[in-house]
Amino acid sequence: MSNTAPHPLLQTLRERLGHAHVLTADQTDLSSYEQDWRKRIRGKALAVVRPANTLEVSDVIKACAQARVSVVPQGGNTGLVVGSIPDASGTQVLLSLQRMNAVRHIDTDNLTLTVEAGCILQNVQQAAEQAGFLFPLSLGAEGSCTIGGNLATNAGGTQVLRYGNARDLCLGLEVVTATGDVLHGLSGLRKDNTGYDLRNLMIGSEGTLGIITAATLKLFPMPAAQLTAWAAVPSVADAVKLLGLAHQHLGAGLTGFEMMGQFALSLVDKHYAHLRVPLWQDSPYYVLLENSDSESEAHARERFEHLLELAFNDGCVRDAIVAESLSQTRNLWHIRESITLAQVDEGLNIKHDISVPISSIPDFVAQTDALLKKEIAGVRLVNFGHLGDGNLHYNVQAPEGADTAAFLREHEDTVNTLVYQSVRKFGGSISAEHGVGSMKVDSLPDYKDPVALHCMQHIKHALDPQGLLNPGRVVR
Ligand SMILES: Cc1cc2nc3c(=O)[nH]c(=O)nc-3n(C[C@H](O)[C@H](O)[C@H](O)COP(=O)(O)OP(=O)(O)OC[C@H]3O[C@@H](n4cnc5c(N)ncnc54)[C@H](O)[C@@H]3O)c2cc1C
Repeated sequence: MSNTAPHPLLQTLRERLGHAHVLTADQTDLSSYEQDWRKRIRGKALAVVRPANTLEVSDVIKACAQARVSVVPQGGNTGLVVGSIPDASGTQVLLSLQRMNAVRHIDTDNLTLTVEAGCILQNVQQAAEQAGFLFPLSLGAEGSCTIGGNLATNAGGTQVLRYGNARDLCLGLEVVTATGDVLHGLSGLRKDNTGYDLRNLMIGSEGTLGIITAATLKLFPMPAAQLTAWAAVPSVADAVKLLGLAHQHLGAGLTGFEMMGQFALSLVDKHYAHLRVPLWQDSPYYVLLENSDSESEAHARERFEHLLELAFNDGCVRDAIVAESLSQTRNLWHIRESITLAQVDEGLNIKHDISVPISSIPDFVAQTDALLKKEIAGVRLVNFGHLGDGNLHYNVQAPEGADTAAFLREHEDTVNTLVYQSVRKFGGSISAEHGVGSMKVDSLPDYKDPVALHCMQHIKHALDPQGLLNPGRVVR
């Protein structure tokens, strides 16, 4: 195809969607669609298409299948494993779900909410709240990520230990398959054993098996009170001990348990001093706990104070504060969620999103820290994450004052191998919640069970024999 002649597919797509919703680089700046969130990689799309409904998604897929042009689905483009942008070839169609953002239906007796895939997560939470319910999926990118992207990556976030991952919050999906057919699976059923679970196959498939166009989600009763506490703990082992005590004494009320290393908090203090990180110079690790209570705030506070008293006596907590107001609670969560952005301000680092059994976390951290410090003098470790789920964002930052680009060039492969081998030693996963994308696709064969990987390749081939949907992501 010459540079000047438009691809014949563009004409077909424009006829189906209208000119305004088939964007090309010669007319529009496509950088927000083509650049990954961390700004490490920039792709180049043949076109960006913005369908308004499921039928239009189906039309796009059929036209692309006929033209043998591959399709990359995109929601909010907040993914952290480079899965939602086109490759550099200029031959892929980027399918943005952003216009499909309607709330279709709320069934308060069935406790379900049906929304289109392009709904921003925060809007889904608000729709649930307006109906008097809780939709508990919550993560730092909730103001821009979409529910379709959350389901496609099986996102985790901060409430997993009580409510589960995105997968656990979804009862049904509507999906456009690689042939352009529509799988009508928007059931609000909690029980349906009529064969293979296609919903769960699609969830976490990162756009490689189908395009999610709508979802039926679970709603939960709104807690009467949500209280947070911030605790300084002497070590990772003490954080794990505190988690055990919190499970024992708060039961299902324990809805969040995040751990943060001192260096991670020092970055928030450095780049967002106005947030006033509490106690951060006192201890090597900190925990943010959330207690949701179905009775009252007074009841929640009483239980929290009892828990913290036990923890002080045990020695696993050195100092703690319980939020006095909703705004203090929000500020504590904001500090935790600002770690991701503070790292960006500090300069690119080598990111890991790992999980190991909670009982192994202290040994994993001690041994991996030691290996990295031996390998790279002065290396700084940004360690934080969802300890309640055994999931750490274990990131490796260049030594103070070092050239970040040179650090990544020189050390990224070695650091990844070292961390992944440590994860394997402790029986963990190299991607706990962010997915595989193109960033981890080449590492997967070394760390995934070979039979599992083989089955995944067969499934991909069976459902998408042309390799049309998000090729090069998850499995090759
Ligand atoms: C500040 C910050 C904090 C974050 N915190 C967390 C966290 O706590 N937990 C967590 O799990 N993740 C977290 N993430 C990662 C990211 O936000 C999530 O993975 C999110 O679920 C992605 O949603 P999205 O709409 O932006 O998807 P995108 O980035 O657009 O896409 C992600 C993947 O899903 C595919 N996809 C998107 N939409 C569809 C669709 N409708 N159908 C099929 N495939 C589709 C894409 O092709 C791509 O492979 C964070 C990211 C940021 C920037």
